[in-house]
Amino acid sequence: MTSYDVEAVRRDFPILQQLVHDQPLVYLDSAATTQKPRVVIDALSQYYLQDNSNVHRAAHALADRATTGFENARKRIAQFINSPKPEQIIWTRGTTESINLVAASYGRVALQPGDKILVSTLEHHSNIVPWQLIAAERGATVIPIPLDNRGDLDLDAYAALLDERVKIVAVNQVSNALGTVNPIKSIVQSAHAVGAKVLVDGAQAIAHFPVDVQDLNCDFYAFSGHKAFGPTGIGVLWGRESLLEQMPPYQGGGEMIESVSFSGTTFNQLPYKFEAGTPDIAGAIGMAAAIEYLGNLDRAAVQAHEAALLAECIERGEEMGLRRVASPRHAAGIYSFLLPGAHPSDVGTILDQQGVAVRTGHHCAQPLMAYLGVPGTVRASLSIYNNHEDIDRFFNAMAKVKKFLL
Ligand code: PLP
Repeated sequence: MTSYDVEAVRRDFPILQQLVHDQPLVYLDSAATTQKPRVVIDALSQYYLQDNSNVHRAAHALADRATTGFENARKRIAQFINSPKPEQIIWTRGTTESINLVAASYGRVALQPGDKILVSTLEHHSNIVPWQLIAAERGATVIPIPLDNRGDLDLDAYAALLDERVKIVAVNQVSNALGTVNPIKSIVQSAHAVGAKVLVDGAQAIAHFPVDVQDLNCDFYAFSGHKAFGPTGIGVLWGRESLLEQMPPYQGGGEMIESVSFSGTTFNQLPYKFEAGTPDIAGAIGMAAAIEYLGNLDRAAVQAHEAALLAECIERGEEMGLRRVASPRHAAGIYSFLLPGAHPSDVGTILDQQGVAVRTGHHCAQPLMAYLGVPGTVRASLSIYNNHEDIDRFFNAMAKVKKFLL
């Protein structure tokens, strides 16, 4: 184990200090949503207790404070992912909306009949379906990048799929179902060599390791507040400025316009062109508080801590006869497994009775489950606040599951 002070981190998360079914809560479902530290909860209540107002264009103190908090939050996120400018941070409802925005706006102008969009077999439905929708509209096709036998992307197959008809490559940085960490920089390099743009789904990456969009050299990066200790309902699309400038608005309404008349409407500058309507102001402020909290941790120590917990899961799972559904060469935060002879949902239910929260099913990755030939898995996902006792309780609970079900 590392010197990382996980107990101090746990104390920052009030929700963890509770019993579930009379047992200490073991929260192993952070890939679905992370828990929130007190600083985030306080930032949300502070905003509603003191500052609540609508943002921009108002002549009073509360609106001023709300606007400052909202725009400072944008700057905070920009710094966190090393965006050249805060204007490249577009607030959305989350990863799903960020991807839909790019598909609907960029996809509509960039795709011609016969063009191709590559997505990986590892993708969450939210990085597949938006592309299918725009592909159907534009006469393009969505083509999956296959995996190798360990659950990593098959990079040779990827290279063979790339040609000048590929306009978009959409891949996650970390798979929510297997934890696979994808080699984004080399994926981007090969895509750019044929003129394709790359969208990275960072939903699962952002909480596990530092992300630098300039270093990745991707064209779009999407992530959600709630998967990185922030509130639900808020997320970010980061985009390359030259692309965002040329993209048409995604939704129409207030805020995204410069002037409106019946003879023609002109649109606001970045980022507001893509932010129609009243935004989730508290959410943005809460998300920035979460990012601040995460940024103040020793990220290398967090990574080492989570890696040690994952290694323990893999080792103890093997000893217990659990079947890990894939063994990617580089994985982050996810232990996805089956108990041979038992249905994943039964395993999940009996774990819950012992206070252990996991997720079961297809994890919004049905094409991946079909590829692996399984209906679903049991997924234990790890985060900054999990400790060795959590893993111990999880495996003790699994021993009881085994006795009960087999
Ligand atoms: N992409 C990945 C890899 C995810 O894990 C998720 C959520 O589980 C999403 C996208 C969708 O995120 P959201 O529901 O926050 O929009």
